[in-house]
Amino acid sequence: MHCDIAIVGGGLVGASLAVALAGTSRRVLLIEAAQPPATAPAWDERCIALNDASRRIFEALGIWRELEAAAEPIRATHISERGRFGAARFTAADAGLDALGYNVPLRALGAALWQRLRASNVELLCPARVTAVTAQPDWVALQIAGADASTTCTIHAQLLAAADGAQSAVRAQLGIGAQTRDYAQHAVVSAVRLSRAHGGVAYERFTSDGPLALIPKPGSAASLVWTLPTAQVEAALAASDDDYLQRAQAAFGGRLGNFVELGRRFSYPLSRVVAESSAAPRVALLGNAAQSLHPIAAQGFNLGLRDVAALAGLLDDGGDPGAAALLAEFSAARASDRKRVSGFTDLLVRTFSNRVPGLMQARHWGLVAVDLLPGLRESVLRQHLGHLGLPPARLGSRP
Ligand SMILES: Cc1cc2nc3c(=O)[nH]c(=O)nc-3n(C[C@H](O)[C@H](O)[C@H](O)COP(=O)(O)OP(=O)(O)OC[C@H]3O[C@@H](n4cnc5c(N)ncnc54)[C@H](O)[C@@H]3O)c2cc1C
Repeated sequence: MHCDIAIVGGGLVGASLAVALAGTSRRVLLIEAAQPPATAPAWDERCIALNDASRRIFEALGIWRELEAAAEPIRATHISERGRFGAARFTAADAGLDALGYNVPLRALGAALWQRLRASNVELLCPARVTAVTAQPDWVALQIAGADASTTCTIHAQLLAAADGAQSAVRAQLGIGAQTRDYAQHAVVSAVRLSRAHGGVAYERFTSDGPLALIPKPGSAASLVWTLPTAQVEAALAASDDDYLQRAQAAFGGRLGNFVELGRRFSYPLSRVVAESSAAPRVALLGNAAQSLHPIAAQGFNLGLRDVAALAGLLDDGGDPGAAALLAEFSAARASDRKRVSGFTDLLVRTFSNRVPGLMQARHWGLVAVDLLPGLRESVLRQHLGHLGLPPARLGSRP
């Protein structure tokens, strides 16, 4: 079988790219190992904080209207360290926007993307797994194993867009190196009901056990994301709801009243994976396959979606989708955004996971400086909104 573009991985990033390429004259094939929407790892109970740049990209893709009903606006963020007075605050008004971002259930986002794909001209091979990849000057050959493993086939594509996640098999098979850092931390994620209205404010609280984020959900609920050292995770998951709530409440404090009800807890091991390059002959890497980040700054998917927007924009111009010049442009266009966001996120993790006394003072004054110094404040805000890495708006022309 031949196609113009084969997308490997139908998680949030691969599915977003497929939606961006739907309706074009190119023959696009999406290959996803799991059966969406119910069973793939990305389709869990989590919510995802989308920044303003991501909202704009989904608007251009015509997906935002479906998401808006399930999305809770984030009107302000408040970043602080437990036991210290310094805090940094950002409001939507600072940015001249209605919201700094939106907290969206992954399930709603995944469903909107796959619903759109099923009604499109994108060919879906799912469940099916890519088992081998070889790149030639004019095409890439992909070996595919179907659901029952006896159904195999080979696909030739002019461009392979690898969105197969942090452990990307495509990346490994093509010998593209990646730097990996295991943070020895897990994120424990759950929903929590609060006795006081959150007012649309997202909180990031650095505690001695690790950062704890509360991101607004509809009503008086929030997504609770608590980063803990791996050694403490088993106990955190085994604790009764009451014990866990009490511990989280003690770490967060009383700013939102009491934590009164807890949803199911899920845990995720945290590491940083940054591919040495986001392109190789006939191949582009996107999303977690290119860079997988700690969730401390809620930037991973937002960054991956900007990979999507950049590649889809370049593919708009027609011609060979896997041409070396196009892939070089993609790689160059994404380099500074990837470096800035992955570097900033890593710096945050290491700064706030450290109990060295001098560093504790420095980060305290760092928060005060971000709150008070207009230039620094503006640059952190723009990074938070994703505006620094937003490619030129070219997606909007699509029907
Ligand atoms: C606790 C937590 C909270 C987070 N919160 C936020 C947030 O608020 N905001 C934000 O922007 N980001 C957040 N992130 C990051 C975000 O979840 C990821 O960046 C994003 O989900 C990555 O999507 P992806 O499609 O690149 O990769 P994945 O979700 O890993 O998808 C890869 C897909 O490829 C498929 N696949 C793999 N191998 C093959 C193969 N050989 N053949 C075919 N298919 C294959 C898999 O089945 C999977 O569906 C968070 C992450 C965590 C862990």
